[in-house]
Amino acid sequence: MSTIALQAIPAKTKTAAYAASSAQSAMAPFSFARREPLPQDVQLEILYCGVCHSDLHTVRNEWKNTTYPAVPGHEIVGRVTAVGSEVKRFKVGDLAAVGCLVDSCRTCPNCQAGLEQYCDVAFIGTYNSPDKHLGGMTYGGYSKSIVVDEYFVLHVPDKGNLAGIAPLLCAGITTYSPLRHWKVGKGQKVGIVGLGGLGHMGVKLANAMGAHVVLFTTSPNKKEDAQRLGAHEVVVSKNQNEMDRHANSFDFILDTVSAQHDLNAYLALVKRDGTLTLVGGPEHPPAVEPFSLIFKRRRYAGSLIGGIPETQEMLDFCAERGITADVEMIPIQKINAAYERMLRSDVKYRFVIDMASL
Ligand code: NAP
Ligand code: ZN
Ligand code: ZN
Repeated sequence: MSTIALQAIPAKTKTAAYAASSAQSAMAPFSFARREPLPQDVQLEILYCGVCHSDLHTVRNEWKNTTYPAVPGHEIVGRVTAVGSEVKRFKVGDLAAVGCLVDSCRTCPNCQAGLEQYCDVAFIGTYNSPDKHLGGMTYGGYSKSIVVDEYFVLHVPDKGNLAGIAPLLCAGITTYSPLRHWKVGKGQKVGIVGLGGLGHMGVKLANAMGAHVVLFTTSPNKKEDAQRLGAHEVVVSKNQNEMDRHANSFDFILDTVSAQHDLNAYLALVKRDGTLTLVGGPEHPPAVEPFSLIFKRRRYAGSLIGGIPETQEMLDFCAERGITADVEMIPIQKINAAYERMLRSDVKYRFVIDMASL
């Protein structure tokens, strides 16, 4: 395994990491500079980092926007190792978390509304975004430490399953936010498409919100797990008879699929004025037939992660109900094999990197 050339940086600010150096290369050891904490910054030692399919899309440049080297990872739980002089909400030794965002303009209407992910100027992602402090791009959580403005750091409960909390920072909030926005609750029939990292959180959260939850999967062997996770019904989407039984019946369907698939088959299951919302971002976008929408006045929508206040709300919601992700822990040296398994839908249901391995 090759080591990517280090930047010329002072040794005290270096952090160990794993990076991709091109769309074709495997993830490999890397090292780079983090900034010293500024007055408003919190520095974390990263304990656990979840492995999101967006990491894989980015590493392989499937969204055609990756700058290399790329250090992914935006499901971060860690311990505070230093705070700047103006930090009020964290102290050294606290547990804390960082999700998909590390900055935004903070003044546009969306930032003012706590919806920083929709910042009109540009949100700064935890990885692969311009780093206004050091130049270059931001580097994510496949690393030993991170320095983030206090506003973008979340509190996590000071007990419990920290590895299972890490995936909440993306998979959790990305499903919680649309379920809340479309007011999913008691008396509603809600579909979740795909039982991966996002999908399994969608099932748990929609169930906790009181909806009747139907899970759609291409993997018949996930049926029992889906029921254990909170699905009231499971449909194998390749089986047309099973699909047809649900025609025109859903208030809301959340599609978490990471690859090309037929959206019109799901629109046909949405009832009048119901909504199909995409959170999955396949490399090749699926086509929508206008008549799938025109009949029954259906809505087709998308949703991006969640803002900082809602991410904290989601973490608190999960803590109160004991909801965490079902994780398979890996050492960082297994990340390339984990990506291959993720592509085969062979993960139950989120890989989490134990950063002690780095
Ligand atoms: P994941 O763990 O790999 O899960 C994706 C699931 O999709 C698989 O487990 C599989 O479920 C299903 N699937 C895979 N290939 C399929 C195919 N060819 N046809 C039908 N179903 C297929 O991925 P993830 O981390 O949950 O992420 C899912 C997607 O959401 C990715 O595209 C990711 O980039 C995106 N994402 C978006 C946001 C956002 O803010 N909108 C945030 C995070 C992630 P079954 O085996 O059950 O069929
Ligand atoms: Zn993610
Ligand atoms: Zn903004």
